Amino acid sequence: MTEQNKRPYQKSRNNNSKKTYYGKKFDPRKSGAPRGNTSDGVNVRIGQNFPLTIKRLGINGEGIGYFKRKIVFVPGALPNEVAVVKVTEVEPKYIAAKVLKIREKSPDRVKPLDEFADSVGGFELEHMNYPAQLRFKKDVLVQSLEKFQPKGWSDYDIRETIGMENPYEYRNKAQFPVRKIGDELSVGMYKRGSHELVDLPVVHTQTPATMKVMRTVRELLDKLSVSIYNEDKNRGTVKTIVARVSHTTGEVQLTFVTNTDGFPGDTALIEAINKALPEVTGIFQNYNPGRTSLIWGEETLKLWGKDYIEETILGKTFQLSPRAFMQLNHTQMSVVYNQALSALDLTHADKLVDAYAGVGTIGLSLADKAGEVRGMEIIPEAVDDANHNAALNHINNAKYEVGTAEKLFPKWQAQGWVADALVVDPPRTGLDTALRREILRTQPEKFVYISCNASTLARDLVDLSKAYQVDYIQSIDMFPQTARWEGVVKLTKRQK
Ligand code: SAH
Repeated sequence: MTEQNKRPYQKSRNNNSKKTYYGKKFDPRKSGAPRGNTSDGVNVRIGQNFPLTIKRLGINGEGIGYFKRKIVFVPGALPNEVAVVKVTEVEPKYIAAKVLKIREKSPDRVKPLDEFADSVGGFELEHMNYPAQLRFKKDVLVQSLEKFQPKGWSDYDIRETIGMENPYEYRNKAQFPVRKIGDELSVGMYKRGSHELVDLPVVHTQTPATMKVMRTVRELLDKLSVSIYNEDKNRGTVKTIVARVSHTTGEVQLTFVTNTDGFPGDTALIEAINKALPEVTGIFQNYNPGRTSLIWGEETLKLWGKDYIEETILGKTFQLSPRAFMQLNHTQMSVVYNQALSALDLTHADKLVDAYAGVGTIGLSLADKAGEVRGMEIIPEAVDDANHNAALNHINNAKYEVGTAEKLFPKWQAQGWVADALVVDPPRTGLDTALRREILRTQPEKFVYISCNASTLARDLVDLSKAYQVDYIQSIDMFPQTARWEGVVKLTKRQK
């Protein structure tokens, strides 16, 4: 695969992204939050303490307050709290600070289930109760719309965020680095903005199945003295363990990412895994040599068992090889696809385009409601999977092609294959300008935008609202306990 360096971290094909959500450093400059006082007349220095009232949460879930009218970002602080904070960074346009003490607590504050929540990435909101998290996700959207002000935005029907009944144990894949720290094996996540690996016996957002496999494999690696990667010396074998469970079958696919081509001790390890973990039905090695921030290398080899795990989505079966992308939250993924389905309101006469298709999960699960489906995706392997999955489900009105949405969408139209319905599901960067232009030119009758970034969505709506009206925006909480936003937008053509 060649896409590793291209993708932004959210809605990246999560199996190979360089910047995993975990450990990503908070960067207020990219937060899209209001800039505050830009003059730098405020006298403040690193290490300085002061009390601060938190006004709101920024789009990364960090608390925002103002010190002498200059914006201060405080991760971990909640709206209406008064906190004593300590300045960690002073920039011309903002101050970053950390909480020393909460003087006045928000009623929404809860004790995070994960004790490492404030130090490891991916748990930005775990100190806030769930209803407040859902309100926050609506507010993120409102903040973005306020900033970009697409036509008619103040009248948009912004629906209440659809949350999860149990906002924990939803991540169907764990991808944890392994290192030896002293004599102890650490299998877990990096501290935010650092290279310190924290061993994590329990992670409440992970499915119990992935955690059980992780912890058992950790024990077996230890017991069998399997060679572990040493980053300083750039020696040793096992770098990362990836465990992915099928929500449908409970089967677990296990991959060892290794520094070495060979895998000394793998026979004994596989035997031990077979005994201890019957749910593991396929074991793989991915070779990714050297010091690199990429998690996955190019070569994947099956060591034992089945080539695929299978997942069912809206009645369709998808075979997933270790690197095939699948949304991390199965329950909410079905909610998103059902939302897209009902917003599209397809008929058997419709030609549907599934843009930014991944392995074709959206288009294929909607294919029997449409006349014809075409999809595009830039990763050749994903397109192969999409066409393979079409055949597997005896779907013969769907076809996937390798290429960018901005190139193929106009090409198909020019060839006379004119779309009646369009669903886009772009990465965080949103829609390419050329694609927006082409959508405005051809104006498909039915149009649904699935977004994982409220900010680029709001930007794109500025253009799109020249021809379309926004019927509603439905936020769906795909990543409870994190600040990540996801939503489905129904657009209809404006009456001329
Ligand atoms: N719809 C899929 C995948 C969404 S992730 C699902 O629900 O699972 C977004 C996908 O867009 C990624 O697979 C990425 O490789 C692809 N992509 C990124 N830029 C693209 C572009 N310009 N044209 C088409 N696909 C693109």
